[in-house]
Formats: sequence, structure tokens, C-alpha cells
Amino acid sequence: MDGPSGSGKSSASRGVARALGLRYLDTGAMYRAVTWWMLDRGVDLGDPQAVAAVAGEPALAMSTDPDAPGVTVDGVDVSGPIRGAQVTRAVSAVSAVPEVRARMVAMQREIIAVSLPTGGIVVEGRDIGTVVAPDAPVKVFLTASAEARAHRRTAELDGTTVEAQKAEMARRDALDSNRKADPLAKAADAVELDTTPLDLDEVIAEVLRLVKERA
Ligand code: C5P
Repeated sequence: MDGPSGSGKSSASRGVARALGLRYLDTGAMYRAVTWWMLDRGVDLGDPQAVAAVAGEPALAMSTDPDAPGVTVDGVDVSGPIRGAQVTRAVSAVSAVPEVRARMVAMQREIIAVSLPTGGIVVEGRDIGTVVAPDAPVKVFLTASAEARAHRRTAELDGTTVEAQKAEMARRDALDSNRKADPLAKAADAVELDTTPLDLDEVIAEVLRLVKERA
């Protein structure tokens, strides 16, 4: 499940995983956790070489339970702090560094491989259908209008406005879509689903229909 921020990937992916008894992986949380660790260490995120030099250091552990997703880095639970404005502002600079991506993609493939004997996994991100799991049997690319995405994000966060969220999302999407390494992109064989007029249950139902069709 790929798509830009606020397209509804997380809620839909968790709902689908729950409905099908699958594992769930939020790859954005991995990039956010690395970013949190680098901010904590005072790494200069404006310097891709400085980011690349320490990209192998943070030890991430991901929960793949759709009812209790979470991430620890070096044993610290950062599931809350990685949603803060500071990490959100900085994450696209970190995720654009090829050394960071290579490590995250390798970890994501390992997590997917471990989940397969248990039935499989719903993975959400920006490059899952194109890079991480090009052989995935079902690929969905979620979109939504900028207005709808900003409203959803504003409802999830305290102390922000729709206009501020719209600007922040446009900035992050431009960085994620225009970077050289594994940009945000729809796989040629992904089904695009515009979630603007749909509520969460409708999005989940549509993805479950696709899964049934392809299975
Ligand atoms: O999905 P979320 O908004 O939490 O992702 C945070 C950031 O992580 C994205 O803006 C993007 O820079 C990066 N990301 C990525 N590739 C993924 C998932 C997330 O580059 N597969």
C-alpha cells in the first residue's frame, strides 16, 4: 500500500491486516525512527554524507501487530515522539539518503520474509510496490485531494490548522516524489484508489475486494 501522506494508508492498512489476520508494517515509522535517533544525536541532517556515515548505527525493532504497532530504537520506544512536528519536518531529508534507504529496504524485506509463513503482511509506504516488494500479489496506490488529506491530518494532531497541514504535506510530497532514490511512485501494476469521497470502512472494503479478486 503506497501513497502520499494523509491518503489514509495507515488506517486502511491496519484495517485490512486485521480483517485478514495478517501482520502489518509501517515503513514510514522506520524512517521516522531513524530521523528521531539522528536528531537526538545532533547529526547534521542538511549534510547527506553525515547522515550516510551513521545510517548503519540505530538498532530498530518493529512491532508488526496491527493492533499494537510500534517502534523502538536502541531499546527506546519512540512510537510517540516520531509523530512530532520536528521529526515530520526532518524525515524527508533523511529518507532521501541512499545509504539509509538501502538499510531500511533490506530490513523491510527481512520482515516480509519472516511474515510469509504466518500468512503474509500488509506493508505501507512510498516505494513498496516499486522497490521493496515488486512481486507483491496485491498493490494499492491510495490518493486523496490535498484538501481531504489536510483535514484528516489536522483532525489527528493537536495545535495545527488545515492550511498549515496543507503546506507541510505539499512540501514533504514534493521532496518524497522528486528525490533520486526510490521516489514516491505508483507501480505500473498497482490499483489506484482515490479515497477522497470514501470513509475508512469503504476504503478497507474496496481493498478486501481487490485481495479477493487477485487471490
Ligand atoms: O508515512 P509517513 O508519513 O509516516 O512517512 C514519513 C516519511 O518517511 C515520508 O515523508 C518519506 O520521506 C519517508 N518514507 C519513505 N519511504 C517509505 C515510507 C516513508 O521514504 N516507504
